[in-house]
Amino acid sequence: MAHVISEDCIACGACLPTCPVEAISEGDIYSIDADVCTDCGACVESCPVDAIAQL
Ligand code: SF4
Ligand code: SF4
Repeated sequence: MAHVISEDCIACGACLPTCPVEAISEGDIYSIDADVCTDCGACVESCPVDAIAQL
């Protein structure tokens, strides 16, 4: 289980500082490292386009 970022991501960067374990990586579409993500959910509300969801 992990949180994932969908292709709706607009690369705004808002989620990046919300992750306590630095599981989020920058890119054309941001991504979450499933091996690092603890499913804490802290990033979800930060996304203006609701691109982050739990698998
Ligand atoms: Fe980071 Fe928590 Fe979001 Fe996983 S759910 S990417 S640990 S903020
Ligand atoms: Fe992408 Fe949402 Fe993160 Fe912004 S907050 S970089 S739109 S996943």
